[in-house]
Amino acid sequence: VVSEPDTGTTVNAVIAYLLFNGVSLGEVMEARVTLEQIVAELAATRADDLQIALLRAQVERETPDQIDGTDRHHILHTMIAQTAANPAAELFVEILGRLTVQWVYPAVSKRRRYEALSASHAAHRALVDAIAGGDQVRCQHIMRRHLDGMARWIDEHPGEPQLTPWAPIGGVPKLGEQLAHSIAVDIVAGRKMPGNVIGSEAELIEQYGLSRSAFREGVRLLEFQRLATMRHGVGGLVVTSPNVSAIVDAAAVYLEFRHITADDLMEMRRGLELRAIELAARRLTADDASMLQGILEEELATDYSAPAGGRLHQVLAGLSGNRALTLFIHVLARLTMNFAEQPSPTTSRFAELARSTHQAHQAIVDALVAGDGQLARRRLGKHLDALGPLMH
Ligand SMILES: [Zn+2]
Ligand SMILES: [Zn+2]
Repeated sequence: VVSEPDTGTTVNAVIAYLLFNGVSLGEVMEARVTLEQIVAELAATRADDLQIALLRAQVERETPDQIDGTDRHHILHTMIAQTAANPAAELFVEILGRLTVQWVYPAVSKRRRYEALSASHAAHRALVDAIAGGDQVRCQHIMRRHLDGMARWIDEHPGEPQLTPWAPIGGVPKLGEQLAHSIAVDIVAGRKMPGNVIGSEAELIEQYGLSRSAFREGVRLLEFQRLATMRHGVGGLVVTSPNVSAIVDAAAVYLEFRHITADDLMEMRRGLELRAIELAARRLTADDASMLQGILEEELATDYSAPAGGRLHQVLAGLSGNRALTLFIHVLARLTMNFAEQPSPTTSRFAELARSTHQAHQAIVDALVAGDGQLARRRLGKHLDALGPLMH
């Protein structure tokens, strides 16, 4: 068990999970546009003088002459997320930023890269100016244009993007981290499949030239990421398929550790779920519609009362077709359970909550199934607003 979840370990675990499940660059950019517009708006509202000075200093440090600028480019996005002062926003921006740079274009010319970095630099300057001015609308707008531009640049690019091994976060990784990373890259790339035996403890220690304690540290990290586990009966370290609930737990534990509040959660849920339902409305099939009806019937049958973290929200997220957004919404919904009022099942309060929750859910699904995505979005927004006062 990793006792103190650090950012790097959590970010790497989520990245490994999303790549393992074949997340596309398009999904990553779509999630970024959604998330970082919210973040930009929050940063404009919350930045203090010191943060503004630091953001301005960072923009001055960025110059398009840095040809290997992709990693450096993300520093400003990280700082803006920190300014937004929401641990979930920070975690998700970090995950998506590090995912974006997984796709590299070996064929890109120095000139094209220079042009892209110049455009980013100008966008960053305008963004920080809008944050300094506290202009939320302008901030959102500039962030959207900046990320759309980035996505377009990626789209227009000739040739398929290449997925590269992601680098572990933070300085020179320890030997155990290097072992975990190299095995994780093999698993994500499909070179090692679930059930495959990677090797026995003695073999791997010899192969990687590690101490026993470094080896065990590496195994702990792989187990935390749910990518591999030690099974002594079958000869050592075995690949496991990372399952969603394990990764959701890992991210949720990290955010609890970062003292995420109910307000932080609802602010992010609102932003991400409203976008997800718009996407879901565009691609809803007849099968999806009957599945949603099935969930509503289940709610009735089970005297359903999980007003805040309910299954319907997770299923709606999944229907967006965006695996990054879906995962983030799962994490937030799971954490919401920690804060939500949970009256005892025998009370009238319980019955009242169950009824109002179910009614709200029914209204959302009705609009969605009728093909009115905007009305569904509006109803979901009202439902989420009504949850705020139920949290403590
Ligand atoms: Zn940028
Ligand atoms: Zn609900």
